[in-house]
Amino acid sequence: MKKLGLIGGMSWESTVSYYQAINRGVNASLGGLHSAKLLLSSVDFALIERLQHEGQWDEMANMLSEEAVCLANAGADAILICTNTMHKVADAVEGAVSVPLLHIADATGTVLQQQGISKVGLLGTQFTMEQTFYSGRLKEKFDIDVVIPDQAQRRVIHSVIYEQLCKGVICVESRKAYIEIINALCEQGAQSVILGCTEIALLVQQEHTSVRLFDTTAIHAQAAVAFALAQD
Ligand code: GLU
Repeated sequence: MKKLGLIGGMSWESTVSYYQAINRGVNASLGGLHSAKLLLSSVDFALIERLQHEGQWDEMANMLSEEAVCLANAGADAILICTNTMHKVADAVEGAVSVPLLHIADATGTVLQQQGISKVGLLGTQFTMEQTFYSGRLKEKFDIDVVIPDQAQRRVIHSVIYEQLCKGVICVESRKAYIEIINALCEQGAQSVILGCTEIALLVQQEHTSVRLFDTTAIHAQAAVAFALAQD
């Protein structure tokens, strides 16, 4: 089994989900008492959140690159950035190490393509929804069109992520607001919706809506398990 290197803590609430999903995935394949071989480097999210909102992406690229180098030097065979938003600096992180970076949008695009989805709604932070590093990659590599919520809805999605989900607060009213936005995306032609923030599945699960959801945390974790268990 290969060793995974996780850059987590963004937020730690979703890193817990990654840890559980990766271990469960390995155990589902290997059985018994098998669990994943992994290294976790968990950053202080308060600093990341401040730098994000100040637009200091170069500084964050350097920070996450240093984390990736530490993980690779410690024996990680691949790197995962355990957040969608911070994939804005994925190219820099990938360039800093010689081991592969398992990109969350590639894992998601692969699953969407397998399911025949060509137009999808995207929920995430405003950075993820409004900039091109995520939707552009889905279009270029997988020919998938992305629909995003309107500006007021994007603000709601974003503030729930930072003010509630990253603090472990799960609120029924917020779930209702998310479901309404998911429905609005479908009215705009989305065939399904990407939960493109690694905390959203803590709030909205498939049982809450008939719209098909794609949880990026679960998908990314599954891709990591496949990498770890692949034969050379
Ligand atoms: N975990 C979230 C994401 O997947 C948001 C926190 C962050 O900004 O990294 O985008």
